Parts: sequence; C-alpha cells; structure tokens
Amino acid sequence: MAQSTNFKSKYQVNEQGYYGQFGGAYIPEMLHPNIEELQQKYLEIIYDEAFQHEFHALLKDYVGRPTPLYFAKRLSEKFNTQIYLKREDLCHTGAHKVNNTIGQILLAKRLGKTRIIAETGAGQHGVATATVCALMNLPCVVYMGEVDIQRQAPNVKRMQMLGAEVRPATSGSKTLKDATNEAMRDWIANPTDTHYIIGSVVGPHPFPDMVARFQSVISEEMKQQLKEKTGNENPNYVVACVGGGSNAAGAFYHFLDNEAVQLVAVEAAGHGVHSGMSAATTQLGRIGVLHSSKTLFMQTEDGQVIEPHSISAGLDYPGIGPIHANLFDTQRATFLSATDTEALQAVQLLARTEGIIPALESAHAIAVLDRIGAKPTDVVVVNLSGRGDKDLDTYIRELQ
Ligand SMILES: *Cc1c(COP(=O)(O)O)cnc(C)c1O
Repeated sequence: MAQSTNFKSKYQVNEQGYYGQFGGAYIPEMLHPNIEELQQKYLEIIYDEAFQHEFHALLKDYVGRPTPLYFAKRLSEKFNTQIYLKREDLCHTGAHKVNNTIGQILLAKRLGKTRIIAETGAGQHGVATATVCALMNLPCVVYMGEVDIQRQAPNVKRMQMLGAEVRPATSGSKTLKDATNEAMRDWIANPTDTHYIIGSVVGPHPFPDMVARFQSVISEEMKQQLKEKTGNENPNYVVACVGGGSNAAGAFYHFLDNEAVQLVAVEAAGHGVHSGMSAATTQLGRIGVLHSSKTLFMQTEDGQVIEPHSISAGLDYPGIGPIHANLFDTQRATFLSATDTEALQAVQLLARTEGIIPALESAHAIAVLDRIGAKPTDVVVVNLSGRGDKDLDTYIRELQ
C-alpha cells in the first residue's frame, strides 16, 4: 500500500473528500460523530506500522496474496496483443472483496467497535464481511433485500454458516438500495459500538478513499510482477469491470498519475445501453447524491434512482463511486460497456482458451478486449476480479 497520503494527485481524493466535483459526505446529522471520527483517524490508523503488518500478514496467509499475474498465451494470440490476467479470482472467498473487508475489520477493532453491520445485494460482500467477522470473533448483521434473499440462497447459507445474522429489508423494491437504507438506519441507532463495512468505493467520505487504498494492493503487486515478467512496471492498458468500482480502483490506483497507462473501465450494458435494462452509469447517469456521496447515477427527471439491470449481480448497481465519476469526467479513464450476451460469450471464451471460468462481472472486462485498440506489442493487464463458481446456475441456464 502506498505510504503517502497523496493529496496532490488530481485523481485522488482531496482533503475535503472530493474527486473533482464528486464525493463528499452527505449524511444525516446523527451520523456526523461516526463519519468525523473516521475522517480524522483512518489514515493514521491504516498507515500505522502494526496495522500494516497485520493487514499484509492476513493478505498473505489467509487470502493467499500476492495473487498471480498470469500471461494468457492463447488469449493473447486470439486478440493479437500481450494479455496478462491479475488473478483476484484465486483470493479466499473467490474475489477481491475480501481485501477490503480485512482492512475494515482491522480498522473497526482499532476504533474499539464491537459489532459489524453490512449490506449486500447478491451476497458476495455479505460473505466477505461474515468471513472476517468469524475470523475476528465479532458479531455481524448483514442487511439484504427480501427479494435478494430468495434469489441468492447459497450466499445466505454461507453467511449463516459463518455466524452472521442475515436481516431482510422489506421496504421498497426489497433489493440492494433498501438494504443500504436499513444498514444506515442501524448505524444511526448504534453509533458508538458499530462499524458499517461498505463493500465498494462508494458511500460518504472517507469510505471511497479507504476502500481504494485497501484494494490498491492489486496494482502494487501488478507493478512488481510486470517488472519481473516484462522488465517494465507499467503496462499500456489496465482493464477492469465497474460495479461500484472497487476492483477497478485497486487495479488503477498506482497508475493513476502515469497518463501513459491507459485505464479502461467496463460497465454492464445489460440488454443494451438504451434498452431500459442496463447498468451503464456513465452513459445514462446524471450527477446527484447517491448513498451519501455526490456522483453519477441513473435517475429519473425528479431524481429517483432507476433500477439497474445486469446479468451479473455485482455490476447491477445504479451508480459508480466518485473516483470513477471523476475519471470519466476528466477522461483519464475510457469507459466502455459489454452486454449480458457479450459477457456470457467472454465466459465461454476464457474457459476454452485458458481453462479459467471467470465470474460474470470479470467476463465484462474480457468482452471488450477486441475494442481497446491494443497493438501486438502492447501489454494489457485485465483484472480478473472473481471466479465463476457463484455463477454456475446462470451458466447452466444460459450456456449450451
Ligand atoms: C462485487 C464484484 C464486482 C463489482 O464490485 P466493484 O466494487 O466494482 O469491484 C466485480 N467482480 C466481482 C467478482 C465481484 O464479486
């Protein structure tokens, strides 16, 4: 993890908690003590030597880091460029999310918190949170929409096996947004003993910056591994899928200020960007306040959140984190999108060419490799955010 606080970069958060015009902390009065405590203490806590030691020891022996950087020879031949896969799919629990939950539970302990809450859509972040709560022996409540509880039985069971209580959110559409509201309500009711583990680079400042820093281990490792394998620590392209944007933020982090490295963020186009069934936030969104942060999200004329759609649960989010809204606004990153069908084709392609069955989310990043404009000698790193085990029901249904 970078030791500097890096406030001078125009792509990093500034001291007020903004990325350009995006970010901030638009929170109810009752949460001011919690958020201010976090804002004042998070950098000091996470860059403390003992914290770094414990964090990196767990990433190594519990998560299995560093994850390999794998030269995908057959995929490279197919796209006529040099493709490396950053294997976050090999992390304990099957994706990058655990990098963040480990960081946040260590932070919670140092803040003296004795109870953890989280919200989850498909259940992946809930599982990653329940996992670290078991590890650290802290009680864990995960809010989940009632509809999602029905749709995601295996992840509900996993959370329960890990000792978490899964509490249904029964208001509104009974999905992620409602679970988020319930979690916020819980935090307001329990401000002193509880830490709320947010699962992506979203939410009020300092969450987006804190989560990006925990996930930045991904690009820190990429640099070392590229140096060993190619002699140059900088690739020509880094490609990552974006739901809220945590795996992309981690994969981009140490390359943000090197404009020679092209950053490609891939959103879910669902049935097609303009089909009314999509999650292509930068194409369809407008600025507003979502999840206590000023950012781009899909909204109606009068500012109501539009329900997103993606075949991949992890990309099925109506907004993007403020760091990405700014990368889009400044054109530092290129935003592309892939449809459900293209993602499924990419799953099949990666399985057959490299023997790797990716998560549906990660397949969106594979799906754009024919359109980024990479030359035969270019080095392209794709962040393979997770593995496909969790998506097998979809693959059974959709792939012949
Ligand atoms: C949750 C998830 C994502 C999307 O979340 P980000 O915060 O955008 O990274 C992507 N890939 C996988 C495998 C996930 O589980």
